[in-house]
Amino acid sequence: MFFSYQDKFLFAEGISVRMLVELYGSPLYIYSQQAMLDAYAQFSQALSGLSHHIHYAVKANSNLSILSAFNQLGAGFDIVSGGELARVLEIGASPQNIIFSGVGKSQAEIAQALSEHIGCFQVESWPELERIQSEAARLDKTAPIAFRVNPDIAIDSHPYISTGLKENKFGVPIESALELYLQAASLPNISPMGIACHIGSNIDALEPFEQALDKLLDLFAELIEAGLSIQYINLGGGLGLKTSIQSYGAMIQDRVQKFKHRYPEENWTLIIEPGRALIAEAGILITKIEYLKTMDEKHFCIVDAGMNDLIRPALYEAFHDIIPVYQSEHFTQTYDVVGPICETGDFLGKQRTLSVSMGDYLAILSTGAYGMSMASHYNSRPLAAEILVHENKHWVIRSKESYRDLFAKEQLINLLG
Ligand SMILES: *Cc1c(COP(=O)(O)O)cnc(C)c1O
Repeated sequence: MFFSYQDKFLFAEGISVRMLVELYGSPLYIYSQQAMLDAYAQFSQALSGLSHHIHYAVKANSNLSILSAFNQLGAGFDIVSGGELARVLEIGASPQNIIFSGVGKSQAEIAQALSEHIGCFQVESWPELERIQSEAARLDKTAPIAFRVNPDIAIDSHPYISTGLKENKFGVPIESALELYLQAASLPNISPMGIACHIGSNIDALEPFEQALDKLLDLFAELIEAGLSIQYINLGGGLGLKTSIQSYGAMIQDRVQKFKHRYPEENWTLIIEPGRALIAEAGILITKIEYLKTMDEKHFCIVDAGMNDLIRPALYEAFHDIIPVYQSEHFTQTYDVVGPICETGDFLGKQRTLSVSMGDYLAILSTGAYGMSMASHYNSRPLAAEILVHENKHWVIRSKESYRDLFAKEQLINLLG
């Protein structure tokens, strides 16, 4: 829809992908603005009628122009570092709309966030809360907080991206939440105002979200009865790409409706923090075929993008569709699509049926999330450029790095005199 063929050439909205890659070089990230707008509108519509707020998870793709687009749509932001805080402030986001998550917030990050008056800290341990209390006291502020509770829910995702089980490092156990909230409320510079969870990423079933939401609603009831004033319930992010945003929203509406009978008088806002579901499908990574190589019975398509540009296949064995930028009539072959990096794990797709020749370009789909934001310089490879497209217009939202950029921060010391 946002990426489709016109006369055998792949287009991003109204612009030829081949034209862009010839202008800006390969590898190249291209994003469709319309895809972002549509995904955001789907979440808004799915939750309409319910007091809600959508916080975009910055780590999915933190390019300033992409943050700015979500800001203009009215999104808040979920951040996990001081660097992400600097980015969202840079684009003029309201600090009140910023939620700070993450297990390892440093003293400096906490102080920075308090000074900027962010909307909420999502606290993942008691020692973290004590640190926030002491920083808030030192700076003479009150810190709005929510505990990130760990609802102990198993999900069917890669173990590296499931976070809601007791055995992993995230959140506080939900059974001890009431006690933690009461203790927190007794601290002079802490104001508990929300409940949060985030059970993992790339979750394609609704049941885990449903179970988590029910647990959060029960905890909300407990906290209200204990006299706390909780204003938001945050279900986190994690929606995968195979489940419709509409059915996710319908599930939330259904659970909340049932709950409302128990607490009709309470006013609170539901927060969600999608990253992937807002931006993944808006992005494609374009790469050039350098060589076609055959070894024994195996065929390799060696491309100029590697695990430094897109690490998801190597890290999580993630599957990304790979399609040609030009639909040629060339004979069809089954290839492993691999990068140029000196690691066996450097692959982008295995056993892909493609009709291609050397010099052609490929598009790796659904790479708007956790693509560029996880890119590295490994093998001294400059980061790719990023292009934003809307209808027939395009903008360079990050220019390609030069070799000089690679070592600009290094000091050359002559150790041997
Ligand atoms: C990563 C993260 C998200 C976003 O996850 P997606 O799978 O991209 O939707 C939301 N909230 C928190 C706390 C996160 O760490």
